[in-house]
Amino acid sequence: MTAPLGEFDLIARYFTRPVRRAALGVGDDCALLAAPAANEQIAISSDMLVEGRHFLPGADPAALGHKALAVNLSDLAAVGARPHAFTLALALPEADPRWLEGFARGLFALAEAHDIELVGGDTTRGPRNLCITVLGLVPRGQALLRSGARPGDDLWVSGTVGDARLALGHRLGEWTLDAQTQAATFVRMDRPEPRVALGLALRGVAQAALDISDGLLADLGHLLRASKVGATVDADACPASAALAAQPLQRRRLCQRAGGDDYELLFTAPPAARNAVAAAAAQAATAVTRIGRIDAEPGLRLIDASGQVLDNVYAGFDHFRTP
Ligand code: ADP
Ligand code: MG
Repeated sequence: MTAPLGEFDLIARYFTRPVRRAALGVGDDCALLAAPAANEQIAISSDMLVEGRHFLPGADPAALGHKALAVNLSDLAAVGARPHAFTLALALPEADPRWLEGFARGLFALAEAHDIELVGGDTTRGPRNLCITVLGLVPRGQALLRSGARPGDDLWVSGTVGDARLALGHRLGEWTLDAQTQAATFVRMDRPEPRVALGLALRGVAQAALDISDGLLADLGHLLRASKVGATVDADACPASAALAAQPLQRRRLCQRAGGDDYELLFTAPPAARNAVAAAAAQAATAVTRIGRIDAEPGLRLIDASGQVLDNVYAGFDHFRTP
C-alpha cells in the first residue's frame, strides 16, 4: 500500500511548476514578482468556488480546475488586464490523487492558454473550496471600469447569453433537455471561456465594461449604478445560441435575462466607435451584439423589437438573497 499523500508532497507533485515570469514561485514563504513598469497598474481579483454552492459534489475535477481559473480570468478580461500570475487556496476533504490529477490538468491547460503562472497558494483539509487570486497588468488609467458609461453610449454584449442557466435548470430538475442540447450547453456551464482577448482589444474603445456572472440584467444594473445612468435594452436583440433559441419563450427569457454563468462581457461604447468595436471583436475572434443604449434617466427599460415596453421581472443571483 502506498503511503497517503501529505500536504507538501501534494503541493510539490500537483502545483509546483517552473516559473518563467516570477522571480520565485511555489516553495518559500512568499512568491516574488518583479514590480510592474512605471506606466502599468496591477489588477487583482479573487473568486471562490464552494462545493454545494457553485458546483455539485462529484463534479468533474478537470472541469473544476478550468472553471476555478476561468471565472477569475473573466474578471481580468472585464477590466482589460493582461493575465500575469495567480495563487490557489484549496480546501479538500481528502488528498485524492485521482481528483488532484484531474483538477491540476484542467487548471494548467487554461493557465497555459492564457499565459498566466501559478506562483503560490495554501492547502488545507476542509469542505471542498477552491479560491484563486489573479494578478493582471494594465497600462495606467486604461482599465475598463463599471463607472465609465455615458448617456448615448451603445450597450454591447459578447457571445451568447443564457446557455449556462439552461444547463443548470436541467441539472436542478427545472426542465429536461434532450441529449444534443445537454451537450451544447453543459460545456458553457462547466468550461466557460473567459473573454480575455476581447477585454484587451476593447481598451481605449469601450467606455465601461463588466463580466456577466450574476445575470445579464443584474450585472447591467451594477454597471448602471456605478455609472449613475440608465439603459434601454432590446430584449429581442440579446444573442442566444441555437440551443437556447429552440427553447420555449418563457424559459428563453429567463435564461437570457437572469442567466449569469456564461462569463460574457457587457460593455458600452459611443456610437462613433462602432467600427472600432467591430475591429476589436474581429481581432479577438469573438462575436459582439448591440443590445441597447445608455440613457441619462436612471433605471432599466426593457423593450421588444417593436419598441413595446416589457416587464423586467428577472432578478439576478445574490448569494444572501436568492434562496
Ligand atoms: P506557509 O505556511 O509559509 O504559508 P505553506 O506551507 O502553506 O507556506 O506552503 C508552502 C508553499 O507552497 C508556499 O510557497 C505556498 O505558496 C505554496 N502552496 C501551498 N499550497 C499551494 C497550492 N494549492 N498551489 C500552489 N502553491 C501552493
Ligand atoms: Mg500556509
